[in-house]
Amino acid sequence: MTAPFEDVDPLRRRIMSSVPDRDTKPEIAVRSLLHSMDYRYRLHRKDLPGRPDIVFGSRRKAIFVHGCFWHRHPGCKKATSPKKRAAFWEEKFDRNVVRDRDVERSLEEMGWRSLVVWECETTRPAQLACKLEDFLDRRSGFSGPDGADD
Ligand SMILES: [Zn+2]
Repeated sequence: MTAPFEDVDPLRRRIMSSVPDRDTKPEIAVRSLLHSMDYRYRLHRKDLPGRPDIVFGSRRKAIFVHGCFWHRHPGCKKATSPKKRAAFWEEKFDRNVVRDRDVERSLEEMGWRSLVVWECETTRPAQLACKLEDFLDRRSGFSGPDGADD
């Protein structure tokens, strides 16, 4: 997919590309990484809370690829706060964060586990591969909520 907003300033571009954020560059990076690791997955399952970006049905695991700015990656330099209309932005951000938390909880209640991959993590594929491996292979079957992990 080509970037449709090339001539627009970065903040505006983030706004424009934020709402239906599917098939974003970071998401594609995660998908191709998973593909190279031989994982099979489905995309954007609408029947699950939050419509996860990447879904592993038989494992009951879901991955969300989140933009650092919109979803407020803690401690990340991409999670900047615009100075203008600060209250407006704060409220918007808060809403996103609360929604993300609700989605995670709903999935958990359904026996699903979820993982957030942050946009900035996709620039380090080797590290990200470890994280994905860890999440996907830790328990091949669903063995209850709090088994020994290591
Ligand atoms: Zn980040």
